[in-house]
Amino acid sequence: MKIHEYQARDLLRSFGIPVPGGRVISSPAEANEAFAAATDGMSKPLAVIKAQIHAGGRGKAGFVKLVDNPADALTSATFMLTNRMKSPQTPPEGLEVKKLLVAQAADIAPRAGGGSEEFYLAITTDRKSRRNILIASREGGVEIEQVAHDRPDAIIREPLHPILGLQGFAARNVAYKLGFKGKQVGQAVAIMQALAKLFVEKDCTLAEINPLIITPATAAHPDGQVLAIDAKFSFDENGLFRHKDVAALADPSEENPAEIRAHKYGLSYIALDGNIGCLVNGAGLAMATMDIIKLNGGEPANFLDVGGSASEEAVTEAFSIILSDPAVKGVLVNIFGGIMKCDIIAQGIINAATKHRNPDGSTGFKVPLVVRLEGTNVDAGRKLLDDARKQIPTMQAATDLTDAAKKVTAAVGV
Ligand code: GDP
Ligand code: MN
Repeated sequence: MKIHEYQARDLLRSFGIPVPGGRVISSPAEANEAFAAATDGMSKPLAVIKAQIHAGGRGKAGFVKLVDNPADALTSATFMLTNRMKSPQTPPEGLEVKKLLVAQAADIAPRAGGGSEEFYLAITTDRKSRRNILIASREGGVEIEQVAHDRPDAIIREPLHPILGLQGFAARNVAYKLGFKGKQVGQAVAIMQALAKLFVEKDCTLAEINPLIITPATAAHPDGQVLAIDAKFSFDENGLFRHKDVAALADPSEENPAEIRAHKYGLSYIALDGNIGCLVNGAGLAMATMDIIKLNGGEPANFLDVGGSASEEAVTEAFSIILSDPAVKGVLVNIFGGIMKCDIIAQGIINAATKHRNPDGSTGFKVPLVVRLEGTNVDAGRKLLDDARKQIPTMQAATDLTDAAKKVTAAVGV
């Protein structure tokens, strides 16, 4: 589960990480007042307007704008709320932006030798070492993906202690490698340790600050201040039950509606780009099914695991979710009846076929359907389907998985 940047900023603050203040608006009419509030007390007013959307790459897409007067704040806010944002992290048609953060802009100190003092910091789980790690770089900002790709040596990786987390010496080590000096070191260390603590306490899968910046030196802060000005979090959904505060931050309008629906019925569904819908029980079988579709030249439209013991109702819902994807040109049902009984699945297919409403108002499946059943009560299941042939004319039975994959890829015209 992801959250918006403004929520991420609140979370950082609650763990003591310094972040400039701001407020969220959802209409251009609020821009003027939000600008005034964000820049209140600044000798040279400067605010940053930022699209609040669960996708990155906003800076390069023109959806992060520095503005120094209310008229420009209004122009930027209007632009962002009336244009879809397109970045490498959005679908090609872009995403609608519904909320903006209007925050006090931070001054970023120039870096000796060019550029500005922007750093990358993240905590995540490293599958290879099976540990949580801190990932850090001096080359923070909007180019971090490119840097990680072209110059992996510019990325520092520091494992966290499984019990003690990010220890002081380890964080100091990273701070020195990043080039922090004087009072900056203590600030950076405190931020890294707080981020590591947050990561564990909130069951994150990713806790990222990019960029972490140094502000220019002032009389009060001769070494400048270390601040977070953008953050991104992902949370482990299996841990949400014990974090009601985090769960409350979910924004359903940013999620795939089919995935939300599936979640309600206990189905694991992930939308993909192909045209063959898959309905399978068990994640391993679902992956094998997707593999065999690909081996036969097809492309799966989704991953869908109805689970070990889905009800008839859940199966009906699963079909309806698969068929709600207009890209689906054929459906492959692959069920191994263990706990799940084949006759339940068969009844689910029949229900779905008779109840499914097409966009033109008619009922019944329009797309080819290939069914492969095996296991508990398979004979009863096959009989139910045989008897229902008239109701489901697009249905074909398959003898085994290879046969099923061949039939469905042929049916969608691979
Ligand atoms: P992202 O592109 O979605 O990651 O959005 P960010 O919030 O990270 O902003 C992108 C870039 O805009 C940053 O790397 C900074 O260079 C710049 N930027 C963002 N906020 C500020 C700010 O408050 N002050 C200044 N000077 N630059 C900012
Ligand atoms: Mn960023």
